[in-house]
Amino acid sequence: MTKYIFFTGGVVSSLGKGIAASSLGRLLKSRGISVSIQKLDPYINMDAGTMNPYQHGEVFVTEDGAETDLDLGHYERFIDENLTRLHNVTTGQVYGAVIDKERRGDYLGGTVQVIPHITNEIKARIKQVAVASGAEVCIVEVGGTVGDIESLPFLEAIRQFRHDVGDDHVMYVHLTLVPHLGAADELKTKPTQHSVRELRAIGITPDAIVCRTEYPLTPEIKEKIALFCDVKPSAVVQSRDAQSIYQVPLNLEAEGLADAVTQKLGFADRSLDLEDWRAMVRRIQRPKGTVRVALVGKYVELKDAYISINEALYHAGVAHNTEVEVLRVDSETLEDRGLEALDGAAGILVAPGFGARGIKGKLLAIRHARESGVPFLGICYGMQLACVEFARNVCGLEGAHTREVEPDTPHPVIDLMENQRNLQALGGTMRLGTYPCRLTPGTVAARAYGELEITERHRHRFEFNNRYREVFERRGMVFSGLYVDADLVEVIELPAHPWFLGTQAHPEYKSRPTRPAPLYTGFIEACIACARSSESAGAVQRIGA
Ligand code: GLN
Repeated sequence: MTKYIFFTGGVVSSLGKGIAASSLGRLLKSRGISVSIQKLDPYINMDAGTMNPYQHGEVFVTEDGAETDLDLGHYERFIDENLTRLHNVTTGQVYGAVIDKERRGDYLGGTVQVIPHITNEIKARIKQVAVASGAEVCIVEVGGTVGDIESLPFLEAIRQFRHDVGDDHVMYVHLTLVPHLGAADELKTKPTQHSVRELRAIGITPDAIVCRTEYPLTPEIKEKIALFCDVKPSAVVQSRDAQSIYQVPLNLEAEGLADAVTQKLGFADRSLDLEDWRAMVRRIQRPKGTVRVALVGKYVELKDAYISINEALYHAGVAHNTEVEVLRVDSETLEDRGLEALDGAAGILVAPGFGARGIKGKLLAIRHARESGVPFLGICYGMQLACVEFARNVCGLEGAHTREVEPDTPHPVIDLMENQRNLQALGGTMRLGTYPCRLTPGTVAARAYGELEITERHRHRFEFNNRYREVFERRGMVFSGLYVDADLVEVIELPAHPWFLGTQAHPEYKSRPTRPAPLYTGFIEACIACARSSESAGAVQRIGA
């Protein structure tokens, strides 16, 4: 029977609950325990797909095309398993399902209430993951902070779980902050005590407490938290700020978090093998060089807006023993300040996006990359705009554009597919999730992947317009990847350029620290080569032999 670990957070938001939950997942998986992770999000949206990056950071896309919370990206990267739409539950989905049932007459005669109808629906969705994944342990992260009104039904549902499946099948882990007061030079446990008190008032007693802290917790402080919060001293663990998020599982292992879990849940006999992970972290800590890559996008000032892209670049760097320094270039600044914003970049990545804002800057960056031989990787919108730039400046198609921005363009090189034309709703109606792609032998893409039949995840509405394929080919563009069944362009490249490639898909979603995305590794390899050949231009600070 599946066992459950419920992760809650207290004191403040943004403590890295997703990373902590993912890290615990990694530690259990490294003990040979099969794990799955699910996120319960208290907002009323059906999914994260309709929220802009200012609201909620990046939208992560699963194989089956769910637009989810970015924490699912951390989960996949840490436990190295593909998750599905079942793994991200929102209040909107829960209420939507209950209201549908009410209208169908499923509760005929009854009063539909938060308890038990909403809480039963939440519990059913948690159990659904257990059944579908067949995992020995399901980790469930409750979004938000204890004390929020919105998360109350979720907390009540996880409270009931202990009652439903038995104490030895359930564990509650609470993440808090232990702040350091500079004036007193003291670490303060009171916020943790208050947060746990709040949790206990709801009926949940944590079995372990993970304390985020800038400074090490002394045994006395751990004792104090243990006593006041009624947990074992060995189950009070610290999580200090780490240089790399991939260090966190190793830190939590050293603190004994996984031991506390395996003892409670009856997996104490499993032996740990973290060697691959440790080796990966060693590579992170000792890079042989640094390479600087420009990320051109319109949300670059937001830490979480391009998280999967940043991670994919990071993973690709690890594979080449090179630290990737991401120069974030705001596409609108590029419009005002010109190309100097790209100074020192050994490669240019143009980010995904929607709408007109900032595209002039993106087009400038693409033209610069194409004309100066700087390695270029265009992701989704970045690929589409590379086609627009090529149409205008190489094929001489004046006014060429994507119909997304210019509906009356004389040359819609990027256009809507028939099935996207008369949409009634915007949520969940893009081309979403995994699609196959056939690569042409001998191309940059084929070399990067090392195979010809691949799959990548998608999130877009517009496509390359096949009417323009011939003129593009005549001018030297190669369509190196196609979704054959629908005859859609997936990958473009310019053989006359050292490394110029655009992909309609988002390979960053499948990148894992121990299994980087091939196009990203290929791109970084080209950036390193470019940096080497132009060292004097300052593109590189230090590249080892
Ligand atoms: N706006 C483009 C489209 O909808 C690209 C989307 C993206 O970059 N993810 O097709």
